[in-house]
Amino acid sequence: MVVVGGGVAGLVAARGLAATGRDVLLLEASPQVGGKLRSAEVAGLTVDVGAEAMLARRPEGLDLADELGTEVLHPTAATSGVWSRGALRPLPRSLMGVPLDLDQLAGSGVLSPEGLARVSAETPTDVADDVSVGDLVASRLGVEVVERLVEPLLGGVYAGHARRISAAAAVPQLLAMARRGSLLDQAASVPVSAAPVFATLPGGMGRLPGLVVAGGGFEARTSATVRALRRTADGWALTVGPTTHPETVEAGAVVLATPATPTARLLADVTPAAAAELASVESASVAVVTLAFRAQDLPDALFERSGFLVPPVERRAIKAATFSFAKWGWVRDLDPDVVVLRTSLGRHREEATLQATDEGLVRVSLADLASLAGITARPVDTHVQRWGGALPQYAVGHLDRVARIRAAVADLPGLALCGATYDGVGVPAVIGSARRAVASLTQAE
Ligand SMILES: Cc1cc2nc3c(=O)[nH]c(=O)nc-3n(C[C@H](O)[C@H](O)[C@H](O)COP(=O)(O)OP(=O)(O)OC[C@H]3O[C@@H](n4cnc5c(N)ncnc54)[C@H](O)[C@@H]3O)c2cc1C
Repeated sequence: MVVVGGGVAGLVAARGLAATGRDVLLLEASPQVGGKLRSAEVAGLTVDVGAEAMLARRPEGLDLADELGTEVLHPTAATSGVWSRGALRPLPRSLMGVPLDLDQLAGSGVLSPEGLARVSAETPTDVADDVSVGDLVASRLGVEVVERLVEPLLGGVYAGHARRISAAAAVPQLLAMARRGSLLDQAASVPVSAAPVFATLPGGMGRLPGLVVAGGGFEARTSATVRALRRTADGWALTVGPTTHPETVEAGAVVLATPATPTARLLADVTPAAAAELASVESASVAVVTLAFRAQDLPDALFERSGFLVPPVERRAIKAATFSFAKWGWVRDLDPDVVVLRTSLGRHREEATLQATDEGLVRVSLADLASLAGITARPVDTHVQRWGGALPQYAVGHLDRVARIRAAVADLPGLALCGATYDGVGVPAVIGSARRAVASLTQAE
């Protein structure tokens, strides 16, 4: 069996297939496996420059860590903030920006008195089968809560815009609440859980790919781009490698664990209908700028915050800053004299923000950190990681689109798809999609 793509989806699919005793070859285009899970050295410290956490309220990520025999770590008690209306303020408890505690929202000062009054006067509305998160929340609670809470939260997870992202795909809980009645009435009864929301591995999420490969029982080939896929009499043939030296790899079954655009290309002749659906899934490009400072150069107060979000309406370059040194004990312990933090930039259809040199991205990050958080020190080292087309955009109707793609692929024996395009972009959801692909292939035999 062949798995195409060595991100977390492909790795978990390869591991799952190998565990059933099958011969599995994983083909990864880039020189290293892991996809968006990646570490790099900054000031001599190895830290995440892609995903840095996984949701701990879903089982898939924690279960995988358990299977791999590694413990998980949770963030410190430092809390997150949001830059709003001229100050860094505490981020109120919310469900993707929908406030769960009105008193806390009022106390935070994130919204203006008018914005707050509009939230409190929730307007009942009918709810369509699917609607954008922004339209849903704006119609109920007003525009300001969308601009100042929903946008920055969705901007963090999807690098997308609230008025485009599907509520059914991204926040189904919110849509279900809206169908039942008042969001605010129900928000008040959403239980406060003491369980940690996020987890990572000791040394960061970038360690996960190596652990999966080490004990996975499959062969992983890197720098092996799959260029074409076709059906044969008894399975599949893949064209692999540079156009000057193409190689054909035969397989009884294939998992495509690649992002939507390459998957669409590979399926163009195999299932044009699914390929066209995949080609219409847009993606957002982002960049992560990691900055290392001498600990003594930063104000002590910073250590109480895990970072902050910046709503697009504030018109800054960065959309978030993560104070990794305050959020993660393992980062702090790497070197007590060096503190590492990161900024993220880039939203869907706003590629212009990223059209700068690496030095330019560092410069605008430092300017925003100075004016928003009072960090005026010079970094001792920096690292810029660009993630082109990294985050699929779950547009309104995404769930139906995915159902159509899956229906088309179900007609092709020995083919399965998985990855961030389908069931959620977060690491646990992606692991879930890989397990689903494995089940569809092994149960079909
Ligand atoms: C900056 C950033 C931060 C994030 N932070 C978090 C976070 O903190 N928590 C969280 O849960 N999620 C986070 N995410 C989302 C999450 O990391 C991704 O959705 C997830 O890792 C995607 O996994 P994947 O395997 O589907 O795809 P990818 O990681 O994109 O892997 C796909 C792989 O396929 C390979 N490939 C592509 N075409 C071919 C081809 N033709 N032949 C062979 N190989 C090919 C690519 O090189 C790549 O390695 C973040 C994403 C980004 C970009």
